[in-house]
Amino acid sequence: MGTNAPPLMIGIDVGGTKIAGVVIEDDLAGKGVTVLAQTQRPAQRGANALIDCIVAVIDTLNTQLAQRGETRRASVIGIGTPGTVDGRTGDVRAIANLSIDYVPLARAISARCGMTTVVENDVNAAALGASSMLFGDDATETIAFLNLGTGLAAGILRDGVLDHGSSNTVGEIGHIPVEPHRWKCACGQRGCLETAASGGAAKRLWPYADPPMPAILAAAHNPHDARHEQAQDVQHIIINAIADAIDILAVTVDPAAIIIGGGMAKTGEPLLHAITKELRQRAQSSKFIDSLHLPSRLKLVPADLPVGAIGAALSAKHVTTAA
Ligand SMILES: [Zn+2]
Repeated sequence: MGTNAPPLMIGIDVGGTKIAGVVIEDDLAGKGVTVLAQTQRPAQRGANALIDCIVAVIDTLNTQLAQRGETRRASVIGIGTPGTVDGRTGDVRAIANLSIDYVPLARAISARCGMTTVVENDVNAAALGASSMLFGDDATETIAFLNLGTGLAAGILRDGVLDHGSSNTVGEIGHIPVEPHRWKCACGQRGCLETAASGGAAKRLWPYADPPMPAILAAAHNPHDARHEQAQDVQHIIINAIADAIDILAVTVDPAAIIIGGGMAKTGEPLLHAITKELRQRAQSSKFIDSLHLPSRLKLVPADLPVGAIGAALSAKHVTTAA
């Protein structure tokens, strides 16, 4: 361990069912990220339970570091969370899945753990993590991360830096109201893309299996399945809305790569195949869409990597480099 040893950073990914944590070493030469410790715990409802759970995850991570003989300790904590994040104060509002109206998350964790704590939107954190693992820390392109989670949202990186816009609304493409069924969205509008292109929508449209997406694709491909025609309809609805989201990202952000992530991405290659097939069909009837070469821009997030927690740690990187 020399004075040039890279800093260690803790990353926490707050999910609706679990709190995941990692300790990463970020090579300053841009060679990438190494995960040194990793753990997770079931999430519980309420602000105090969330804080206790995050502290317990951090304790476990520090124990793992000590067990592997690591004498360095992490200097900063980055947390990725759903809800409305105030990046300046680290306060979070409206974490619906954990029944939290308000939690001063950065201040609470910093007070308990004695480390500078940075809070980032969970989709943005996953965008940072996925981009870093797929393209390295020095990506100079514009990269979009399309999160097919409970809802639908995108994180946008330009030259490796997250685009937050003027009010943290960049990438909220799940609430573009263009879906033809005009279903009511939790946001109050009708026809939002996430009423069709999301894990939550897949559950609503296919209540027969959990997770629904692998079952929908399998039944849609199997003419002997009892729900074959229904599965074809549901697949058509979901894949069309995902393709619309990809079209929208392409013409508004023009990213070099569109990384598909979130819970639905665990479906893997069959999902990517269905999306690619729809994009190719659109390209056949549109020279404009054909010229965008959308299938070649798509990447699936690596399923076995905790990109949300890794990206949360990376979101705190500027704190270590500024120190
Ligand atoms: Zn909406």
